[in-house]
Amino acid sequence: MPFSSTATIHGDDRLNRVSDVAPPINVSTTFRYDDEHLEPATISTGTHTSDSPMIYSRLGHPNADRLEVVLTEILDGPTVVYASGLAAYHAILIHVNPKRLFQPHCYHGCEAVAKIISRISGMEILPLEDLEDKCQSGDLVHLEDPGNPYGEVVNLDEFAEKIHRAGALMLVDSTLAPPPLRNTWEFGADIVMHSGTKYFGGHSDLLSGIVSVRDEKDAQQLRNDRTYLGTIPASLESYLLLRSLRTMEIRVLKQSSNCTCLVEYLASHKDRYNSVVKDIRHASLQKEEFVKKQLPGGYGPVFSLLLFSQEQCKLLVKNTVLFQHATSLGGAESLIEWRAMSDPFANRNLIRVSVGLENAEDLIEDLAGTLEKIEKGDLTW
Ligand SMILES: *Cc1c(COP(=O)(O)O)cnc(C)c1O
Repeated sequence: MPFSSTATIHGDDRLNRVSDVAPPINVSTTFRYDDEHLEPATISTGTHTSDSPMIYSRLGHPNADRLEVVLTEILDGPTVVYASGLAAYHAILIHVNPKRLFQPHCYHGCEAVAKIISRISGMEILPLEDLEDKCQSGDLVHLEDPGNPYGEVVNLDEFAEKIHRAGALMLVDSTLAPPPLRNTWEFGADIVMHSGTKYFGGHSDLLSGIVSVRDEKDAQQLRNDRTYLGTIPASLESYLLLRSLRTMEIRVLKQSSNCTCLVEYLASHKDRYNSVVKDIRHASLQKEEFVKKQLPGGYGPVFSLLLFSQEQCKLLVKNTVLFQHATSLGGAESLIEWRAMSDPFANRNLIRVSVGLENAEDLIEDLAGTLEKIEKGDLTW
């Protein structure tokens, strides 16, 4: 089913336990047993679904159940939620347990998780460039699309063809292209993940991760593992995320259009900051035909600037007013980051921008205005 704002608001109606329109925040970690049905625990007691009785919140709790019901509908496949995006990535690696993982240069945290798994299981980590020659049945291929921090896309259909011909599985980290920008299943993914901290949460106030699979059996196995890995999102975070989902469609669409506007302005006025901005990177500036097809709902709201020097990077992040200097992305507030501050492997002249929900013209004035001031030498230490 295509993404629907109706589902973000009503997908969990069948789980209403009280007459409140806004669902209550349930904080209990434990729940009274039903004394009419007293049975010893079995091996399947750890298996929780949205129809199971509540037992202990590490298995499942009302707020997370509501989340999974809504997410399963809007992400068009059985979906499991986690305490963070990296907990979600870890869960996928544990579940698939591949002998070999093909990984691009991607979000640095995912690279760190793969290294931990490799340390304990011997999983081999290979660069994406080796895919053509070395990919085999049973391998897992991780793609990040659009890529963080550049916000550019790769041709997923082309990758899917190669990966599936080899008998391997294709995981797409779609954090930078949340719904309704696209339905990632349409581009050959076998597993889709998101850092829910970013656009699903959307307010810079919660951590969460999301994994969608094709088969309910895989979702159930993931939930079983999650029970014992202890990576279900906490009650308050789950409530906050559910609340965020209600407005997800309008938030993401506005952030996408704000970003595209801003990138278009910066690119078409580049001569005003020629000795500051070396390059602007964003999917909206990519010319290949697959790009638009792969983001039918709009471009992702993250882009990057490559400046000529580290000093210019520092001046820029110190002097923008609306764009606050902080890591992370996806929130209502626009953020700018000298990427070297959080990613030890990043290009030292790289600025990553996450476009928020402010007025587009104000954002243009802030960012383009600051770049112009640096160009003119108006800003110094
Ligand atoms: C932020 C991010 C993650 C990690 O998510 P957390 O919620 O911070 O654990 C993974 N992948 C991408 C692309 C991200 O941007």
